[in-house]
Amino acid sequence: MALNEFDLIEKYFQQRQPGAFGVSLGIGDDCALLMPPAGKALATTIDTLVAGNHFPENADPELIAERALRVNLSDMAAMGGEALWFTLALTLPSADAPWLDGFARGLFQAASEFHCALVGGDTTRGPLSITIQVMGAVELNQALLRGNARPGDLVYVTGTLGDAAAAVAVIRNRLKVGKAAFAYLMSHYYRPLPRLKEGQMLAGIASAAIDVSDGLLADLGHICKSSGVGALIDWERVPVSEALAKVARPEQVREWALSGGDDYQLCFTVPPAQALHVEQMVSQKRLSASQIGEIVRGEGVSCRYKGRPIALGKTGYQHFDIDTET
Ligand code: ADP
Ligand code: MG
Repeated sequence: MALNEFDLIEKYFQQRQPGAFGVSLGIGDDCALLMPPAGKALATTIDTLVAGNHFPENADPELIAERALRVNLSDMAAMGGEALWFTLALTLPSADAPWLDGFARGLFQAASEFHCALVGGDTTRGPLSITIQVMGAVELNQALLRGNARPGDLVYVTGTLGDAAAAVAVIRNRLKVGKAAFAYLMSHYYRPLPRLKEGQMLAGIASAAIDVSDGLLADLGHICKSSGVGALIDWERVPVSEALAKVARPEQVREWALSGGDDYQLCFTVPPAQALHVEQMVSQKRLSASQIGEIVRGEGVSCRYKGRPIALGKTGYQHFDIDTET
């Protein structure tokens, strides 16, 4: 690489991060030294994004960095945790200055937006790949686990679903959309909103939570499996953006909303005793979420439309026509 590894780290990643919490020692030594809030559990999560697999190789580096940090923060949100720090393992084909400028800009923009400080990492040469580990804190007995949903709990989801799957179809030239829809869909794909605020509000209130990275049916399926329960979803309650409803046929919208990944909304379950509390947060607009179904005895996720069962394949969604089902 033109820049040596140490110059590169110093130039792009050893930046001042005002207001960083609990960083006794940051980038530059063998380890970072961090002080978690007293009495809380340290929550940690890691994800790797590989070029060509998790994002297009030629995508804007600023957006690649934004997305990489945001999707990791989404896991912290799904635990009800507060994000504090992250490390970055970066594998680069070359030390391309404009690329690194953009990448660092996106990274620190997301880091400051979500108050999460870069405290270390590793830099190597090879095919482009980004690994981020986010660390944070959560009250041990309030963490949002996957395994505590019970029959009778209500199922909720934040925001809208299916936008990121439509964005992927646009990126792959399978869907053509106008300028405004293009901007909307791309921002949902590259800059998903990690629901940290919502996760922390729901800690100690929701019985279970997961972030929707692989699709609602798959991810709610993980809650069901861990909890030993089933779930029943009412398709007409599943929130879909106006932008998405305008650019695709209803059956395509349904497939993307139920089975499309990459939205990073929170899916969570609420015990009946907390339902009023959560409905108040929703009606006061402190929480952007919709009730989409309920937890039932049994196993797996089923779906109905206006009270009638919808056929879903064992491993997820099967194509069918919304107007001709019987
Ligand atoms: P070591 O030889 O101990 O692995 P490195 O030379 O890899 O150390 O890293 C030197 C310092 O720079 C360490 O504090 C490390 O955490 C930090 N660092 C390396 N790469 C990155 C990166 N991409 N982002 C942030 N910090 C990094
Ligand atoms: Mg190293």
